[in-house]
Order: sequence, then structure tokens, then C-alpha cells
Amino acid sequence: MASSEVTTGLPMSCECGNIRFRTPTSEPAGMAYCHCTACRKQSGSAFGTSVYFSSEGLFPLPEELEAKLAMFTHPTDSGNTMRCYFCPKCGVRIFHAIVLPDGSLRSTVAFKGGVIDEGIDWKAMKPRNIFTRSAVMDIPNGWECSKLQAP
Ligand SMILES: [Zn+2]
Ligand SMILES: [Zn+2]
Repeated sequence: MASSEVTTGLPMSCECGNIRFRTPTSEPAGMAYCHCTACRKQSGSAFGTSVYFSSEGLFPLPEELEAKLAMFTHPTDSGNTMRCYFCPKCGVRIFHAIVLPDGSLRSTVAFKGGVIDEGIDWKAMKPRNIFTRSAVMDIPNGWECSKLQAP
């Protein structure tokens, strides 16, 4: 039975339910509120929420999942290529993976926080605020700020 083969990772789904799978691991490597212009566009909001996981074991994507997901790429300011995976039915971004200039994948992928259904203690995550130079909101006191790239 299929349910016995996937026991790790956190359950996630898009808004319409077309895309459902599990994050690569159950333990996020970190979380960020990203204020870059791309994340503002992508989220249709003031900032994007990324929860990072090790990409180990995620690729190649299972055939059935890959057939359901849509993907586009865009270059990043730092010279990498971002592969952006989303649900073609409801348009929700699921995760992105970074391809480095040498063609290798960054060791972490960023899932959009809102697609993760359970298993995260949100209040304990202590997200970093990144790319705050382009923030369109005041960053509350005590929030960690960084202009550095996500992990
Ligand atoms: Zn969907
Ligand atoms: Zn961003």
C-alpha cells in the first residue's frame, strides 16, 4: 500500500488540492520572510514566506507529481536560476529550487509557508527577514533582519 512508503516530511497542499505531497524532511532548516520584489509579486502580498528544507531525496520528482506541477524559471540577481514550481490549476506557488551557475542544485529548497498543512510550530520558527532593503512595510522591532541570501 502506498501509505507505507512515505513516512517522512510534512504534508502540504495547494489551495485547490490538486497538488499534495510531503516536504523532503520533517525538520525545516529555517524560515524567512523575504521582502524582495519577486517574492512580493509571487505572493501578491507584502512579502513571501519561505520554509527551507534539505533538497536531498526531492529530485528527481516522482513522475506523477512532476506531471501535475507546472514550472517556470527566472534568473536571480546573484546569477543563479530559480526553478519555480506551482499548481497550474489554482496558481499557488509550491516551492522553488535554485540552480547554481555550474548547473548543480542548491542543497536547500524553499517551500511557501502557507502550503504546509501541519507539523510546524510557527511561533517557534523565528523567521529571518531578508532583502529588507526593498521592504514596503516597517519591520517590527526584534525581528532579525538580514540582507543575505536565504540558506
Ligand atoms: Zn492547486
Ligand atoms: Zn524573495
